Amino acid sequence: MRNLASTILTTIHLLRNSTLSAIRYRPTTLPRPVLRASMPIPFFGALFSSTPKTEKMYPVNKSDSEWQAQLSPTQFRILREKGTESPGSGTYDKHHPTAGTYNCAGCNAPLYTAQHKFKSGCGWPAFFDAVPGAVERHVDRAFGMSRTEIVCAKCGGHLGHVFKGEGYDTPTDERHCVNSVSLKFDKNDKVIDDTKKEGEGSKAEL
Ligand SMILES: [Zn+2]
Repeated sequence: MRNLASTILTTIHLLRNSTLSAIRYRPTTLPRPVLRASMPIPFFGALFSSTPKTEKMYPVNKSDSEWQAQLSPTQFRILREKGTESPGSGTYDKHHPTAGTYNCAGCNAPLYTAQHKFKSGCGWPAFFDAVPGAVERHVDRAFGMSRTEIVCAKCGGHLGHVFKGEGYDTPTDERHCVNSVSLKFDKNDKVIDDTKKEGEGSKAEL
């Protein structure tokens, strides 16, 4: 009898304790969201600050602060924040050399040759074609329009937009409307060597 009574008492004691502990624990579970909200701020901060403007990872991949250290404020605004220079203001708008390449002002990748450039009269440098594989196209739905944005395939830097079917007398009837700020002209036409290599590569594949 004593044993039974003792067992019952112990059970009651344990139950009470566990009930109490459950009650006691409940409030400790409540502050969790508070902790969650306060603790991961550096995590969220890192997430947002390192989020690139373009989702894709490019061969040349830098943080905004790294780009800011390398580029001028205007270059950063246009290349990394998809800005646009004022029409007629650009260095290469009325620039018509017979040879040379227009490289990316962000990563120096050759994007266009002097032979691709034509006089469009639109106020920005215009090219009817690009160095093969150098420029990537994306649909841009900003400002309620559907346009084709062009970016540097190596660093994702914003170049401008491409327009088709405008009736220009060019081999492609396309106009790559590029910000001068996104470009850096190099009078040494090194693309010739690059295309030779690409040509050899494609021949080897065939
Ligand atoms: Zn680039």
